[in-house]
This record gives sequence, C-alpha cells and structure tokens, in this order.
Amino acid sequence: MSLGEFDLIKRFFQRARPQPGIDVGIGDDCAVWTPTPGRQMLVSSDMLVEGRHFLATVAPERLGHKALAVNLSDLAACGATPRGFTLALALPRADAAWLERFAAGLFALADAHDIPLIGGDTTAGPLNLCITVFGEAPRGQALLRSGATAGDDVYVSGQVGDARLALEVFRGALSLPGDEFERVRSAMEVPQPRVALGQALRGIASSAIDISDGLIGDLGHVLARSEVGCTLEVDALPRSSIMSVQRLAVQHLCTLSGGDDYELLFTAPVSARAAVESAARAADTPVARIGRIEERAGLRLVDAVGKAVPATFDSFDHFKTPHA
Ligand code: ADP
Ligand code: MG
Repeated sequence: MSLGEFDLIKRFFQRARPQPGIDVGIGDDCAVWTPTPGRQMLVSSDMLVEGRHFLATVAPERLGHKALAVNLSDLAACGATPRGFTLALALPRADAAWLERFAAGLFALADAHDIPLIGGDTTAGPLNLCITVFGEAPRGQALLRSGATAGDDVYVSGQVGDARLALEVFRGALSLPGDEFERVRSAMEVPQPRVALGQALRGIASSAIDISDGLIGDLGHVLARSEVGCTLEVDALPRSSIMSVQRLAVQHLCTLSGGDDYELLFTAPVSARAAVESAARAADTPVARIGRIEERAGLRLVDAVGKAVPATFDSFDHFKTPHA
C-alpha cells in the first residue's frame, strides 16, 4: 500500500480521546479492558463483502455507517449496551480520500453510541470489512432467540421492507419517484440499529432477534430456538406509504422476505403490553403487534380478518436474481 499500514491506522482509525473502561486501545497486540462487575459480555461479528452485502456505488460514509450499524443491531437484539468494537479491513488500495469518508461515517455512528474503536487488522485485498462489537448486559438479562412461549404477542419495530424495495430498484425490477427512491435507498444504506429499544426491552421481552435476512426467516429462528409456532397477521406489518401502493407480490416479497431491515422482532407476554408500549416510548421507537406465538409448530400467515394468506412465494420468482 502506498500509504503504509501503520500510517493508515494512525491517521484514520486511532483517535486521541479517553476511552472509559478501556485500559489499552489501538497500538498493542491486544486491547485490554475491565469488564463491569455483575455484567455479562456479549460479542458479535458481521462481515460485509462488496457485491454481496453492499453495492460498489455506495458512498464510503454510508458504508462506514452500515458496517457498524449491522453489528450494533445484533447487540440491540440482545438488549446489550455497546462498549467497543474492532475493525478488520481488506482494502484494494490505500485511498486516503476514501478512507477519510469511510472513517467519518463509521465514527459518526460510533460517537452516537459512545463506543471506541479498540483494535483491528488492516491488509491489502478485495474490499472486505469485518467488525466485531462488544457489549454488556446485566447477568442473565440478555434477550435471546429462545424464550418465546405460547400466548406471547409478536412485535416488530419501525417499518419493514424499504431496504428490499431499494434493492429491487437498483436491480431494475421496479422504479420509484426520485424522492421516494432516496428515502428507501437511505433505509438500505443507512440503517438505524435499535440499540435503545433493545435495552428498554430487557426484563420485558421473552425473546428477540434483529431482522437482517428477512422477517419470515428471522422469525423462523425464534420459533426454532423457542420450540413454538406462530400466526402472523400479514396486514399488520408496518410499512411505508410507498410500500402500500406496490403490487401485493412486491409488498410480500419486501416485507416478509426482504432483508436488511435491522428492525427488532420480539415477543412478550400479553400481560406486558403496557410495559412494551412504555419501553417503545422511552426508546422513541414505534413498535407494532403483528402476531401470536402458539404451541403448534410452524408459521401461519393470515390477513386482517384471520383468513389464511397463501404463501405466494412462487410469484416472487421473477425477482430471484443473484444477491445485490
Ligand atoms: P498484530 O501484528 O499484532 O496483528 P497489527 O500490526 O496488525 O498488530 O496492528 C497494530 C495495532 O493496530 C493493533 O493494536 C491493532 O489492533 C490495531 N489495528 C490494526 N488495524 C486496525 C484497524 N483497521 N482499525 C483499528 N485498529 C487497527
Ligand atoms: Mg495484525
């Protein structure tokens, strides 16, 4: 690399600011930190590969944001408080202008959550980003995929489907008015991890997951880990107004199997409805009740009057093109 590896780390990633709780940050063989007594540590890694997780056209600031956002979303799903992160980076070339913008997007989100970059690795190679996040939760209180029980309500935060709608526009399968396209494109490129909501749901939600691979698939993980089934009211899925005017097949594709939403899908007992609402208010994040956990295994889709919605996934086939 023209810009040396160590110069690059120093210039773009090492920041002279106090890092509470971090005893040694970037610069040694390991970062060293002191965990908070009585808390458990939560760790998650997510890798982003060009062409698969992002398009080459994405602005570097947005890529920096998204790389950290998808990781924070995993901490959010567990109700964890973020503490720090590492960044492993393969770069085709050391392009200072690109790195400047990437770091700006990355640190804007890091600062919003008050977490330091405490280490990483840097190498030449095809563009590839891997972030590992570290968080904490009071012992025994992390939200897990297991824990949903028959009778629980199923909720989702925010709105689902817009990121997938943007992807379909990029693929040329649909078109949208310019301002709507910019909005759904931001949903895809600048997702907002629901960190505050996850923490507010500790002690209230019985299970949780973040929607990264599509609502149905991710709900399936909760059902499998919790050994329960579910009836999902398709018409109750919160969606944007531009989504509501799409063909039904497109709506189903985007809201049910579209990915990259980074909303929280969670369950809670009926007795906790008021607590869920006040958690949502405290976190300033809307949540919608979309279904019910049942003893009978499997996922059943119904409309607003309880009529079975045929899983018309065949009609999605014409969208089936390689990812991104
Ligand atoms: P090692 O040879 O022990 O793997 P490196 O020479 O790769 O260490 O890295 C030197 C220091 O810089 C380490 O503290 C490492 O964590 C940090 N580092 C390397 N790459 C990055 C990066 N992309 N972002 C943040 N810190 C990094
Ligand atoms: Mg190294």
